[in-house]
Amino acid sequence: MRTVRALVLVAVTTLACGAPATAPPPPAPPAPDPALPSELVADVTGDGALVHLTELQRIADANGGNRALGTPGYDASVEYVAGTLRDAGYDVQTPTFSARQFAVQQEQLAVEGEPVPVSALGFSPTTGAGGVTGPLTVMAGEGCAPADASAVTPGSVALVRRGTCTFAQKSAHAAGAGAVGLIVINAEDTPLVDGTLGEAATGVVPTGGVSRSTGDALAARAGANVTLTLVTAVTEIQSRNVLAQTRTGNPDEVVVAGGHLDSVPEGPGVNDNGSGVAALLETAVRLGGSPPLTNAVRFAFWGAEEVGLVGSSAYVQGLSEEERNRIALYLNLDMVASPNAGYLVYDGDDSEQEGAGPGPAGSAVIERALVEGLAAAGVTAAGTDFTGRSDYGPFIEAGIPAGGLFTGAEQLKTPEQAQRWGGTAGRPYDPCYHQACDRLDTIDRTALDRNTDAVAAALARFALSTEELPAG
Ligand SMILES: [Zn+2]
Repeated sequence: MRTVRALVLVAVTTLACGAPATAPPPPAPPAPDPALPSELVADVTGDGALVHLTELQRIADANGGNRALGTPGYDASVEYVAGTLRDAGYDVQTPTFSARQFAVQQEQLAVEGEPVPVSALGFSPTTGAGGVTGPLTVMAGEGCAPADASAVTPGSVALVRRGTCTFAQKSAHAAGAGAVGLIVINAEDTPLVDGTLGEAATGVVPTGGVSRSTGDALAARAGANVTLTLVTAVTEIQSRNVLAQTRTGNPDEVVVAGGHLDSVPEGPGVNDNGSGVAALLETAVRLGGSPPLTNAVRFAFWGAEEVGLVGSSAYVQGLSEEERNRIALYLNLDMVASPNAGYLVYDGDDSEQEGAGPGPAGSAVIERALVEGLAAAGVTAAGTDFTGRSDYGPFIEAGIPAGGLFTGAEQLKTPEQAQRWGGTAGRPYDPCYHQACDRLDTIDRTALDRNTDAVAAALARFALSTEELPAG
């Protein structure tokens, strides 16, 4: 994995026998402009972002309806983004990485012969074509300790609730007790389609998920004869990230802003995450490749996020310690035009005291800058838990302060939020999350516009100075 560096402008003048040098010296880099944030915010527009989003929709339409890992739609997305950034004057790289892609050929669950809807968790080991059959056993608690599998018998198919620990831990505990398969009950009454064992999981059994009501019914049927059939396969795929850096600014103090470029196979990924890509591209194009700033700016468009943050993880892991230390902060955009938009900023300081703890020191400063950017765009933001479940995860793991914007996925907008931001309470922020209907005609253009302003404001602010951040 390579990392991009700003082009260093060095005037090399060769004087031979007192003859005057003929080549003109390269232009001096422009002095940092204190008005850069206000000018950039004035320059970026939602309509400008919409041009890029329209192109991503067109790319999906021309390539089988999606832009997922390993597809021509993804390759076309890479070409579009890289070409747009080159045209804007950036130094652009498209480093490759390899990703393991998981595919499901068959997913079935039969309880005493009756079919029950089930979905394979990502990277579930495969069963044979006939599945695995055994009596249903129920794990205690959430299956997060080996002792929770005390009721699981060898040869059984275990049942467990989602929550507290990873799916892989639950599956390993079931396997440890001799189970031949595991069924996980979702926290919501919707199919469990967003879960994965992770590509590195070991000691796990074939694992599927069911909705809460299906699972509640199953929990009352311990001992029933169940057959779980999950025919799955894993293939190795080469993919690419796109990285673009300004030719100006200090390359030892880099402000990185990124978002994932791949969609899920189920749809074109216009909100998830064409919207983040479009907002970043609009910002990059208006900023230009040689802006008057202090710190270099690097834009990143990640591949293979939807299969487990693979592109961003490969990138961060491929950096030397020295290269990591040159990254001052990371801004992430993943879904910023949800149809029933919330205005959420990653809770860098854990002031909401929810879920994961605070991000690395400096994340609170980034959160404040984004909240202020949204306020200037006319909207009062709220916090959202810093779970690490998007491409900022590998950055905060490496101790790099991070922040980001999010207009919400499958969760429901609350009545207070609907009062504050408009939209419909009790309805998901994005009813088309990970579906074929995640299209251009469903997105919230006002949210796209405001979030583009907010990222431009924060990015330019830190490009001028990172002195607000604790020294690190
Ligand atoms: Zn996403």
